[in-house]
Amino acid sequence: MKLDILVIAAHPDDSELACSGTIASHIDQGYKVGVLDLTKGEMGTRGTPEGRILEARNAAEVLGLSIRENLGFKDVFFKDDYDHQIQLVKYLRKYKPEIVLANAVSDRHPDHGKGGALATKSCFMSGLIKIQTDWNGEIQEPWRPRFVYHYIQNNYIKPDFVVDVTDYWDKKMNSIKAFKSQFYDPESQEPESFISSAEFLDFIEARGKEFGHSINVKYGEGFTVERMIGVSDIFDLK
Ligand SMILES: [Zn+2]
Repeated sequence: MKLDILVIAAHPDDSELACSGTIASHIDQGYKVGVLDLTKGEMGTRGTPEGRILEARNAAEVLGLSIRENLGFKDVFFKDDYDHQIQLVKYLRKYKPEIVLANAVSDRHPDHGKGGALATKSCFMSGLIKIQTDWNGEIQEPWRPRFVYHYIQNNYIKPDFVVDVTDYWDKKMNSIKAFKSQFYDPESQEPESFISSAEFLDFIEARGKEFGHSINVKYGEGFTVERMIGVSDIFDLK
């Protein structure tokens, strides 16, 4: 299956927190969107790897993703090296996305910056004809996505562009709440974590409003680019 957009995320829930409004909006416009989670988030304070896989599946259903896969890299300890890059290259060549949405270029959690860099490098390498890969014994064609955009996560980064996600905000929050073990639940017996307080979801809401306000809409999601983006018609800019 060919995808229009592939979201690459260090942890299940990264894509929901940072760019699920953009995902939902583009699925609504008819694009095929998939998510590739690099790890099962097994080092997270709350929940279990098996539970998070189920939660990720539920969130995928809320958003209407075409595919969601988990590469099973080691949470916290995965490396941005040959073995990990080549695995990502295989998935990029399998799904042939036009656009890749990757982790923030730097963030509080070191996996985010590392995951973002790993995704960028793999997208470039995937286009190199002399890097040969196969999928179940079948030789893969090289494929380079046209763009890699980095979503913004916990730490504030000034976006290079903002997507209006006003109409998809409720869907975004529902996809986040699909990760029941991770976020605020007054009934939960699990230990408190950085993201389990009621205030954390208030922060997500505030960040969405802040980015939305910057483009005169109610809710927005911000992205950064590594290479300059352009338009032929400046009326395409909002
Ligand atoms: Zn994360």
